[in-house]
Amino acid sequence: MKGKKALVCGAGGFIGSHMVRRLRGEGYWVRGVDLKHPEFSSSAADDFVIADLRLRESWEANLDEGTDEIYQFAADMGGAGYIFTGENDAHVMHNSAMINLHAADFAVRRKAKKIFYSSSACMYPAYNQEDPNNPKCAEDTAYPAAPDSEYGWEKLFSERLYFAFARNFGLDVRVARFHNIFGPEGTWQGGKEKAPAALIRKIAEQPDGGTIEVWGDGLQTRSFLYIDECIEAVRRLMQSPFQGPVNIGSEEMVTINQMVGMIMQIAGKKIAIKHVSGPTGVRGRNSDNRLLRKELGWEPSQSLFDGLARTYPWIEGQMRASLKKTA
Ligand code: NAD
Repeated sequence: MKGKKALVCGAGGFIGSHMVRRLRGEGYWVRGVDLKHPEFSSSAADDFVIADLRLRESWEANLDEGTDEIYQFAADMGGAGYIFTGENDAHVMHNSAMINLHAADFAVRRKAKKIFYSSSACMYPAYNQEDPNNPKCAEDTAYPAAPDSEYGWEKLFSERLYFAFARNFGLDVRVARFHNIFGPEGTWQGGKEKAPAALIRKIAEQPDGGTIEVWGDGLQTRSFLYIDECIEAVRRLMQSPFQGPVNIGSEEMVTINQMVGMIMQIAGKKIAIKHVSGPTGVRGRNSDNRLLRKELGWEPSQSLFDGLARTYPWIEGQMRASLKKTA
C-alpha cells in the first residue's frame, strides 16, 4: 500500500480517527478533515485540517487531484437522544446532505480513484423492524422506503446520490450500512453517545446495589459491532470489487436489558433498572450478514461481551480523568 494517498472526512470523530490510524499503519499518506480534532487522542494523520465540509471551499482546498481513496464519515449525528427526538432534524438533514453533495461532486472533479460512504442501518424501513425477535434488515428490503428518522432518510438519499454519480460519471463507490458501532474513543457523554457507551457510563457511575435509568422497557433488540471489526470490514470492502450497499454489523442480537446484564457482569455490580420513557427508535434491529459473507467471504466474529469488556475500562478511565479535571 506504500505511496497511496487517502482523505478521511470526519477524521476527528470516532470511526474516522480509528480509520486514520489503520490507514497510517498500512503505509498510506493520510489527510484528515473535520470541524474538530479527535477528542481522546491526537490524530495519526500526516496532515490534519480543521475545515467545514459543508463548504465548497473546504473541498477545493483539501481534496488533492488523483487521491486514491476517500473515506466519507463526516455527518451530523449522535445516539437516540440526538437523532430520534426531532429537535435536530433540520440540521441533521441539511448538514449531512451538504457534505455528501460536495463529496460526490468533488470526488469526480478531482478524479479520486475510490470513495467509501458510511450509510446506516437507520435507512431500513420501520415496518420491517416492529417485531423485536424478527427484524428484517437484508439489503434488498430497503424499499418501499420508510426510515423512522430524518437521519435515516438523509442516509438513503446520499446512498442514492453516490450510486447516481457512479452510473453517470463512473465514480468508483463503496457503500456500507453500519449497525451500531462501539468501542474505545467513542462519545460517552454529552447527549450524542450511543446505547453501549451511555449504559457503561451509567453503570460505572453507580455503586454496587445502585439504580440506573433505561429508556423504554429494555426489550427493544439491537446488535452492536466492535470498532476494530468495523474498520476491518471497511478496508475489505474497499479492496473488493463489490460496491454495496452492504451491512456492516454483528448478527449477535440482544435486548437492551441483556446488554445491561453483560455490563453489570463486567463491572462486577448488581444494579437495578428503572425503565423510563425516552427515545428508543425501532423495536428490533439486527444486522443481516448474508450478503457480506457472500461478497467478502468474511464476517465479524467478536462477541458483544468481549467488546464491552474492552470498552468498559476505557470509559471508566475517561470518567476518572474528567473528575480529576473538575476537582
Ligand atoms: P462521529 O460523530 O464521532 O464522527 C462524525 C464526525 O464528522 C465528527 O467528528 C464531526 O465533527 C464531523 N463533522 C460533522 N459535520 C462536519 C462538517 N460540516 N465538516 C467537517 N466535519 C464534520 O460519528 P461516528 O460514530 O464516527 O460515525 C461516522 C459515520 O458513520 C457517520 O457518517 C455516521 O452517520 C455513520 N454511522 C455510524 C454509526 C455508529 O454506530 N457509530 C452507525 C451508523 C452509521
